[in-house]
Amino acid sequence: MKGVVVLGSTGSIGENTLDVASRHSDRYRIVALAAHSNHETLFAQCQRFRPEFAALVDRAGASKLAECVAASGLGTRVLAGADALSTVASLPQADIVMAAIVGAAGLAPTLAAAAAGKKLLLANKETLVLAGSLLLEAARTSGAQILPIDSEHNAIFQCLPSRGEPGVAPRGVSRVVLTASGGPFLKTRREDLASVTPEQAVAHPNWRMGPKISVDSATLMNKGLEIIEACHLFSIAPERVNVVIHPQSIVHSLVEYEDGSVLAQMSQPDMRVPIAHALGWPERIASGVPALDLVQIGRLSFEAPDLERFPCLALAQEAARTGGSAPAVMNAANEIAVAAFLGRRLNFAGIAGVIESVLQQHEARPLQGLDDALAADAWARERAQAALTSRHAAGA
Ligand code: NAD
Ligand code: MG
Repeated sequence: MKGVVVLGSTGSIGENTLDVASRHSDRYRIVALAAHSNHETLFAQCQRFRPEFAALVDRAGASKLAECVAASGLGTRVLAGADALSTVASLPQADIVMAAIVGAAGLAPTLAAAAAGKKLLLANKETLVLAGSLLLEAARTSGAQILPIDSEHNAIFQCLPSRGEPGVAPRGVSRVVLTASGGPFLKTRREDLASVTPEQAVAHPNWRMGPKISVDSATLMNKGLEIIEACHLFSIAPERVNVVIHPQSIVHSLVEYEDGSVLAQMSQPDMRVPIAHALGWPERIASGVPALDLVQIGRLSFEAPDLERFPCLALAQEAARTGGSAPAVMNAANEIAVAAFLGRRLNFAGIAGVIESVLQQHEARPLQGLDDALAADAWARERAQAALTSRHAAGA
């Protein structure tokens, strides 16, 4: 029996992880569940999976959860506050940690799991963008195995020679190609993009995901974050990570070798496939996802991304090439801009505008350690808020 901790258990990846784990209750035991504030969902998960620990960042939510747990006679211990996430991420009885908190808030517990030498299932891509070298270094020191959950990176991992090893440069590989669905606005005209709503932006054609990553998919910033994620995970230069639009989301990414061979991984667009791959690795276990019917799908198509309609992708490519503090700054500005868009305080086109203005004010420098990464993140959040305020003042 492997002990599993799910950080971000109430989210889309968290729920999919519990779905896969519940199909293999002879192999996986849920040790701890953690989330931000949704005590109702977390309590329902506690009743079903009976973890030893349940943690909520929000203290009021944690009190409500503790009351429900006590009233129901469950033995789960309830922890509260942001530090509780790192506590459960490094429990000695945990073998596997799913890092599925959204945004930079996932950094500390993800680092804690890496430092504790866990098998780390990494969905929280923002952590890699913010502090990728630090995370990989922590994993190297402790011997933690990092398995990518992002479908593209999981696909690349599967297509690399001898299973690949995150952080080690793959031999004989000339390029990796990330596929992107193109999101809900693939065919929307540039002049119409300014007025799209949060509801339209989160209605992804192929994937059901949390609101932040759904907006990132609509702006193509998600693919930009994934370029940086790939550079860290596979020790590959940004110039060798390409993006191709593939609206069917069946081919999840490709690895091109020096001899001209191209290997791709395919499946239904369902996150339970990469989750089951990583959970079971190096074995294969059932995910609950139906088999792929290529005849029914009929046609797979590919096209180049349009960097003019989706400037976030170009901004991310540049931040990836600049390196140092630039990706951390871009990620933080994006988090602020996306939250403003979801809160109807910024229009869709303004997301790229805010990120660009913050990056223009930034002078990139090398990140020496965690403090540098956190300082870049905090600086960019503050500059992004200021950019939002000045846009409002200007009536934009
Ligand atoms: P989600 O919004 O559905 O869930 C987010 C989870 O994080 C929730 O459990 C929430 O309680 C927790 N959380 C949010 N803010 C927090 C905070 N400040 N502190 C602690 N916990 C917090 O998001 P999701 O779609 O499940 O995505 C999770 C991560 O996985 C993201 O980094 C995303 O980019 C990545 N990812 C998701 C998908 C997908 O299909 N959903 C695919 C690839 C990668
Ligand atoms: Mg992805």
